[in-house]
Amino acid sequence: MKKTIYFLICTAFLACGEAKKEPTQEKTAPVNNFEEFSAEFVEEYWKINPISASYQGYHKYDSLLPIPNETTKKKKLEFASLWLERLKEFDFEPLEEQDKIDYQIIENQLSSYDFYMNKFKSGEWNPGAYNLGGAFFQVINFRDEDLNKRLENLSKKLDHIPAYYTAAKANLKTLTKVHTQLAISQLEGSKSVFQGTLIDSLEASSMDDSFKENFKEKVEAAATAIDGFVSQLKEIQPTLADNAKSFRIGKELFEEKFSAEIQSAYTAEEIFQFAVSEKEELHDQLYRLSGDLWEKYYGDQEKPGGRFDQIQMVFDAVAKTHVHRDSFITAIRKQIPQLENFVRENDLLTLDPEKPLVVRETPEYMRGFAGASISAPGPYDKNAETYYNVTPLDHYTEEEAESYLREYNHYTLQILNIHEAIPGHYTQLVYSNQSPSLIKSIFGNGSMIEGWAVYSELMMLENGFGDNLELGFMYYKWNLRTVCNTILDYGIHVLDFTEEDAMQLLMKEAFQEKSEAEGKWKRARLSQVQLCSYFNGYYEIRALRSELQELMGEDFDLKQFHEDFLSYGSAPVKFIRTLMLKKLDSSKKAV
Ligand code: ZN
Ligand code: ZN
Repeated sequence: MKKTIYFLICTAFLACGEAKKEPTQEKTAPVNNFEEFSAEFVEEYWKINPISASYQGYHKYDSLLPIPNETTKKKKLEFASLWLERLKEFDFEPLEEQDKIDYQIIENQLSSYDFYMNKFKSGEWNPGAYNLGGAFFQVINFRDEDLNKRLENLSKKLDHIPAYYTAAKANLKTLTKVHTQLAISQLEGSKSVFQGTLIDSLEASSMDDSFKENFKEKVEAAATAIDGFVSQLKEIQPTLADNAKSFRIGKELFEEKFSAEIQSAYTAEEIFQFAVSEKEELHDQLYRLSGDLWEKYYGDQEKPGGRFDQIQMVFDAVAKTHVHRDSFITAIRKQIPQLENFVRENDLLTLDPEKPLVVRETPEYMRGFAGASISAPGPYDKNAETYYNVTPLDHYTEEEAESYLREYNHYTLQILNIHEAIPGHYTQLVYSNQSPSLIKSIFGNGSMIEGWAVYSELMMLENGFGDNLELGFMYYKWNLRTVCNTILDYGIHVLDFTEEDAMQLLMKEAFQEKSEAEGKWKRARLSQVQLCSYFNGYYEIRALRSELQELMGEDFDLKQFHEDFLSYGSAPVKFIRTLMLKKLDSSKKAV
């Protein structure tokens, strides 16, 4: 599934906690108001994680840059244990429903510090952890702040770069080859933020000459520090055998990271097993539908015999139905109201008529790759517009455009729109903004968010959307990608999948193009767990729906289920499940 990019465009600066007295590091009196506690926690969290703060649109700490050394690590671990202790001062049961979820999210967040810092320790083997390009870009790109003020912040931040890279060098132990390769190119690329973007902004500002002179010197010192770090990596690189440090993190770390990040009701191994049997199920469906479609596309031509060959041939034929490259955006724009109507007419979910989705061409500065994504306002800027960005295919050659349009053919394009827009990501986002929890916005559960988008595809088709064999066929192929992402992720990190195993899975069993499969093999070695998030969330939501259907029998109402489910915000599905079951239980008792 295409990775959705949540761009955080900030127009408002929420001065939460600014007027309040800042909590000191020594024990403060217990707060008995959970909202107050959350607000204080978030403020302190940003102070200790200023880079994440800039990314999330909170710019109060833009001038800070923590040095990745022992002191910082100690400070973070202390932060985690202090706030865990303060959290435990609350009695869980009397809390409001929404606060209970926030409580558990904070607890999970803080409990994972020990894992990341003392066990996972990616800073010892992944030099890409020290790429500062994005952190500086987030500050200079915060256009609501006066440019001079941004430059003053950046000037202070730049001061720490030499010490930052000295500490980074000292942290490196045994590196993995694949992370080191990527880090070298990304770190070299990051210099363009400093020597390009920052200097251009400096020249455009009204700062005085001595500030400018001084700033330029700091930028040069930063570039020198990055160069020094990169040349150390280059020195190490040729000596890195493939097995210097494996990119495979192994079962124990994978399970632990899965539990911290995905926050699933299942173990990674269980989810992997579910995905394996789901793959078989999808193959059966694809084979059945390819048989039904055969005559329409191939007449009385003999079938190729093998199941996979037959599916591939039908896919090749059906994918030829696609829009013209010039009408890609127009086609998407036309489809949004159709999706809205379908959701309304079939009573699947209430859509907020006040918040229509704006489809636009992806702005130039955001165009890294072709595709579609939802660009949503961050937690500090709820009233900003949400956009559905679609990149026009202008810069593609005929051949590239054709291959892209076959992938996003007439049928798949509809599924993409369901996933990204309605009732997928966009709709979920509108609902989650109605449950105004800063905690859930900041630590939103990726697996629930992606799971909902994937679930919404199934749900639309179940309710008769499209109503043709081709759409069903393309849906199963698309869903197979989600399922195989999980198999690949677990397979590579836990089961030692080779490149050959990966290619067999993606190209033969998931019918992907070579370029797509190669890209996935690369991404799956660089990341861990994230590729499981889509299928896991989807699986958990489906299971919850079945569970409630069973419990409620005739009283089960699909629309009610969707609206209840989404009302809890972007929280882990297992937490939502507990609250939904409890609510059902108490409504039964009330009768
Ligand atoms: Zn074509
Ligand atoms: Zn998505």
